[in-house]
Amino acid sequence: RPGAGERARGGAAPPGAARLTNPQRVYWQDVDITKQGLADYYASVWDWIAPHVVRRPLALLRCPNGVGSECFVQKHSHATFDKSRILSVDDDGDELIAIETLDGLLALVQAGVLEVHVWGSTIDRVDVNDRLVFDLDPGPDVTWAAVVDGAREVRDRLAEMKLESFVKTSGGKGLHIVVPHDGADWTTAKEFSKRLAYAMAADAPQKYIGKMTKSARVGKIFVDYLRNGRGATAVAAYSPRARPGAPVSTPVAWNEVTAKLSPARWTVLNLMDRLKRLKADPWAGIAAVRQRLPGP
Ligand code: ATP
Ligand code: MN
Ligand code: MN
Repeated sequence: RPGAGERARGGAAPPGAARLTNPQRVYWQDVDITKQGLADYYASVWDWIAPHVVRRPLALLRCPNGVGSECFVQKHSHATFDKSRILSVDDDGDELIAIETLDGLLALVQAGVLEVHVWGSTIDRVDVNDRLVFDLDPGPDVTWAAVVDGAREVRDRLAEMKLESFVKTSGGKGLHIVVPHDGADWTTAKEFSKRLAYAMAADAPQKYIGKMTKSARVGKIFVDYLRNGRGATAVAAYSPRARPGAPVSTPVAWNEVTAKLSPARWTVLNLMDRLKRLKADPWAGIAAVRQRLPGP
């Protein structure tokens, strides 16, 4: 799988590069990553990111002048992108944005997109959730060790229900646990994830909280299940973040989720080194998993 990425990296300019205007515009000033640098990153990781972004409705964080200047989230109005390279999906009169190819992803780079966020569904079945995300949000004064414990607890609770899960760094402060499944309506998906979050909070109220109340979060981890509603998003696997250092939301193996990991460990600058060294894709098999969410 990394093969194609290496080809793109070692060879000539990636496809679509010719259509980048202002390729030298700096997007991450602190680590000197330009618009061209971001395009090169995506060309290198295309085979890795594609399964997680292709044909899913997107929310895009656009920062036309880079990190530190004004950014905004865009979920609709495909017209502000290069229409020939981006898919538009009608959702009851709402226009959702999706991509299918590396060229589409590079059209997003051209438009100043620094982060790619995805729905837990595909454009072919927008009413069906096929991936849950548990987003662990540590409040102030929560140690990384506690976040690691929390992620393992989510994994173990899912495993008790015979559900396999996968984990990635958020590129920010936390971890995201991803559960691929055969598909459920949004109400079922959200209720299922809410029950799990609330059960963790009920069993260890000193550690976990299931409600979004910011003020109550000091010392606790918010088990954010709200990513699992219709139209909600989570940052895509392998998307960079518009934060200092250009961290990437990076899929890792469960045995890498230790005190040694940090949520911003992998970045646009060092991710390819990781991918080249990996013996196996830590998320291998995620697309082949067949499992059903239990009902209420
Ligand atoms: P961190 O580890 O710092 O929490 P995160 O990506 O998990 O990083 P959250 O604030 O927990 O950040 O949000 C989780 C996800 O919810 C985001 O990845 C994003 O897709 C979505 N999200 C959150 N806030 C917004 C917003 N204001 N507009 C659009 N999407 C949002
Ligand atoms: Mn989070
Ligand atoms: Mn959150």
